[in-house]
Amino acid sequence: MGARIEPVFIILQFLLFVVSTLLSMYSIGYWRQARLTYFVYLGVTVNLFVMGYFFEVLSSSFDGALTGTKIMYLGSSFLGVYFYLFSRDYRGLPRLAAWKRALLLAPAVFFSLEVIAYPLVQLHYTTAVYVSDSFLPYLDPVVPGPMYYPSFAFTLVFVGIAAVSLLRHFFKERRYEGAVLFLIAVILPTITLVAYLLHLTPRSWNPLPFTLTISICLLFMFLLRYRQLEWQSTGRELVVQNMRDGFILIDNNASLIDYNLTAQDYFPSLGHSYKGINLAEIKDFPLESLETQGHHQFDLEVAGKLLNLRVSTTPIKNNGDRTGTCILIIDDTENHRMMQELTRLARRDDLTGLCNRATFYHDASLSFGLCRREKQPSGCALMMDIDHFKRINDTYGHAAGDEVLSYIGSMISKRFRSTDILGRYGGEELCVWMPLTRIEGARHAAEEVRTSIAAHVFTTRKKEFSVTISIGISSLETLDAQDCVGFEDLMKMADLALYAAKNSGRNRVCEYHQGLDEE
Ligand code: GH3
Ligand code: MG
Ligand code: MG
Repeated sequence: MGARIEPVFIILQFLLFVVSTLLSMYSIGYWRQARLTYFVYLGVTVNLFVMGYFFEVLSSSFDGALTGTKIMYLGSSFLGVYFYLFSRDYRGLPRLAAWKRALLLAPAVFFSLEVIAYPLVQLHYTTAVYVSDSFLPYLDPVVPGPMYYPSFAFTLVFVGIAAVSLLRHFFKERRYEGAVLFLIAVILPTITLVAYLLHLTPRSWNPLPFTLTISICLLFMFLLRYRQLEWQSTGRELVVQNMRDGFILIDNNASLIDYNLTAQDYFPSLGHSYKGINLAEIKDFPLESLETQGHHQFDLEVAGKLLNLRVSTTPIKNNGDRTGTCILIIDDTENHRMMQELTRLARRDDLTGLCNRATFYHDASLSFGLCRREKQPSGCALMMDIDHFKRINDTYGHAAGDEVLSYIGSMISKRFRSTDILGRYGGEELCVWMPLTRIEGARHAAEEVRTSIAAHVFTTRKKEFSVTISIGISSLETLDAQDCVGFEDLMKMADLALYAAKNSGRNRVCEYHQGLDEE
């Protein structure tokens, strides 16, 4: 029976050798991808192991079988550590320092060397014999050396750590399909190794090259299926690097860890900075944004253009602990401009360029409140109304009427102080709040406006015409005397004064005085 299945097994070992060689050669193409380097090593390691065993089963002498075994250990001693290092890279953990990696690999080097040194050094085997009377020849560790079991334990420990951490990673990222594939890829060779060590498998056939090749195929399939070969290593980096938003990563001490091209455009000094310096040393960076919850706006001149930027910070957590902060810098210039324009439109009256009624009341009431807190409060309200405006519209057309309104709006804007608040109260009624102004000052300003409007000549296609206005004034002093409290009361009084101006012949300025409401 042995004679019949022997060629089948030899062909199987040959096929395994071919498959693992092809896989490791293919994976070498991904050598340069930082996070796949150890996967490539892993493939080569399995390939050496399978190749060594292939030599062993082809051997016809003790020396031949021993050479095969030595090649096997040249690969298998590194299996655990490379799998562990691959798992770290795959999870995106920072690379271990060179000395740490050397420390991890040192036992693997030692275990492969002590096999190579056999029989000179008898650490792995004390006695090993060549068995050729089974259906496949093999080297039997009749009396294992003191390092025999530790070498397997070393591999199993690292495979175990890597497997647990990868599984946790998959569950966290909800990649259950990946988790199943990895689980099979890890469990299969682990079970076979343990079974082999416990003599549960036939001595004349080592199943590990078989299961390891299947495992490496599964891992490879997984990486291909999820396009990990192209993306995992470079994908996120490329996305971050090319993002239109600026990206800066800092640790808990505000030391710079990473940044992208856009961030460097915003803060050119990043380009001359080494990673690890404090963010405070980056020129123009708004440090206060780190203390602001949510969003922080700031202006920055970039390449001669003033940009309005928005900073958004996100705490970065690793295993529940805060390890740093991700800072995104978003160009909000266009939005900001639109918002300003919208605000302006919402506040202004289009025709006169003055505040609309709601804004006038809002701003003037605030200013009025401040004035009242003064030791000697003063301030005046003016209510203006164009005389016989309806007639102007009827005679010269609405366009001419609009032009009159527009002219008066712009004229009074120039005439009054910047601290005065001017608004369009209604159709052809305009109003002014003059803070910290006494009645004499307001009277003087109103007279000036009135005469200057009356003197202005408007021209239409038909003919020339002029308009007059009536103005009512009320002052805070009068208001206080009347025991009135609000700005609206003051406006009502100005309106009563305007009414009086209209009734007494128009084109005049009237002041509010006590008893006017009864007149
Ligand atoms: P009075 O001297 O008593 O104030 O007479 P008046 O004609 O000015 O008063 P009235 O309130 O009767 O008419 C106001 C007119 O103002 C009526 C309306 O057509 C005109 N008006 C209101 N808003 C506008 C505007 O935006 N553009 C133009 N062209 N006319 C307007
Ligand atoms: Mg009117
Ligand atoms: Mg009018």
